[in-house]
Amino acid sequence: MPDIDMTRITDNLLRVYNYAFIEDMPYGFFKPNDAMYVGVRLVDKMYHCPKCGERFTVRFKNDNDGITYFSKSRIEAQKGIYDELGIDFPANSELAEKEFTYHTIAMCSKCAEKHLMSSEDAGQKIYNLCHRLHMCDELMAAKGKKLMTDALSNWLEGIKESGDLLKFDLSTHEQLRNLICAVILQDTDEIEKALGEYRNQIEPLVSEALSLLEKQTPAWEVWAAHSSSLPESMSDKEYHEYTVAFPADDTVGEDFYIRQKVEQEKVRMFLEQHRLSSVEEVLMDTGFHEEWVDMVVDKGTSLVK
Ligand SMILES: [Zn+2]
Repeated sequence: MPDIDMTRITDNLLRVYNYAFIEDMPYGFFKPNDAMYVGVRLVDKMYHCPKCGERFTVRFKNDNDGITYFSKSRIEAQKGIYDELGIDFPANSELAEKEFTYHTIAMCSKCAEKHLMSSEDAGQKIYNLCHRLHMCDELMAAKGKKLMTDALSNWLEGIKESGDLLKFDLSTHEQLRNLICAVILQDTDEIEKALGEYRNQIEPLVSEALSLLEKQTPAWEVWAAHSSSLPESMSDKEYHEYTVAFPADDTVGEDFYIRQKVEQEKVRMFLEQHRLSSVEEVLMDTGFHEEWVDMVVDKGTSLVK
């Protein structure tokens, strides 16, 4: 498990997934000017499900004296949504003064389950396959760490006397690390098995998505899942610290589906990314965790008592 600074396969997958399906906006280093931005006393965001009418509110953190900057195009779009919902939009002079709720029309996950998951629309199907693939990628990454921790934990369980540990030279952190790596490397059957299951799950997803993609137009719209705990930029073309609203720390992350444009080339890029395929890659990707050192130290301490 070399500890070199390289891009992890799973980090890269997440980055490409976000690029294709979540946010594709450059970061701008500038302070918003009045010609293009409007300061708004933004306090929360309310989701409205178009299918069942359910509402869900997320509170925002209050930085920048409680003012978030909206691009003028976003203000116009908000006016349209207020209209659609039959709510009066505040006067321009009130935006920076009175508490403002950002409204968004987004399908709740229950309705998405019912209406989107079995969709026969090819564009939506491609998204659904990619979303499932993304979940498999995340799960495999989490499993890698869990299985490595289990391997160490199983080995430690077999140690019954302090002598069994003391026969290893553990006088330095480096030696502890080496022992832990050796222990994990000798017990990789479960990782191999998990990789096999992962491969069996993702192969049909990737090949079905790629074949649908062949017949797809260069760009189209889908309902795409966004977690309510993600920050959102209130600027349309470029974001910066003044335009981003951060959900309060106690926000429960729930998926809501919003209309989102996706592009064939970006989707292809996500599908064709290299994914974890060998035990070595899982080990490298997981990296070394200091809590493993604590596990060995705790075991040693418990035996000496
Ligand atoms: Zn709903």
